Amino acid sequence: MSVPLSRRSVLRGAVLLGAAAGGTALTQLGDDRGARAMTTQVDQPVIANCATWRARPPSSAVTVLQNRPNKIIVHHTAFPNSTDYSLAHAYQNSRDIQNLHMDTNGWLDSGQHFTNSRAGYLTEGRHGSLYALLHGQTMVQGAHCVGQNSQAIGIENEGIYLDVQPPQALWDSLVLFCAFTCQQYAIPATEIYGHKDFNSTQCPGLLHDRLPELRSAVAARLG
Ligand SMILES: [Zn+2]
Repeated sequence: MSVPLSRRSVLRGAVLLGAAAGGTALTQLGDDRGARAMTTQVDQPVIANCATWRARPPSSAVTVLQNRPNKIIVHHTAFPNSTDYSLAHAYQNSRDIQNLHMDTNGWLDSGQHFTNSRAGYLTEGRHGSLYALLHGQTMVQGAHCVGQNSQAIGIENEGIYLDVQPPQALWDSLVLFCAFTCQQYAIPATEIYGHKDFNSTQCPGLLHDRLPELRSAVAARLG
């Protein structure tokens, strides 16, 4: 799905470069625009879809909203800080979250849109979230933050970070994920929040203290 987007961007750049090659007074401007269009593109990170990590089907149809989200909300999970950094563990983590949300919380599917493992493996959460992200026009209604589920993309980061920092790999993937999501939905890097900004919770722990750093890193990736 990223290919058409990338190609369109490259083509847009090529058109501008082509105009520049025409030798008009706008040559330099066209050149700069073309270069910027290509260098600010955030490549799609690898995000395993629900089928890949063997998600259960939702218990009822997910709701696709015909609006773009206006923010990203960062969470951490309630699971222990595992030292299993394998891909298999990341998939198991996604299944554990889905089971908790469906069987204990009684939700129709995973509440969050996406999940980031301690090793930095990204997976789709609620069904349809990845398709919506790649097209950048709609979003799936989530269940991760009361009052924000129809306007915020929720990302669950594996682990508890009340008194320890997350692994660097988790952080790096979080930056990349947020940058790509901001790009796809035209969300400003300033519109990245933590769960506790909206609900009474400690989530996302120390990650909340690092939101200014996260916003800066995302802004840098977006150019
Ligand atoms: Zn949370």
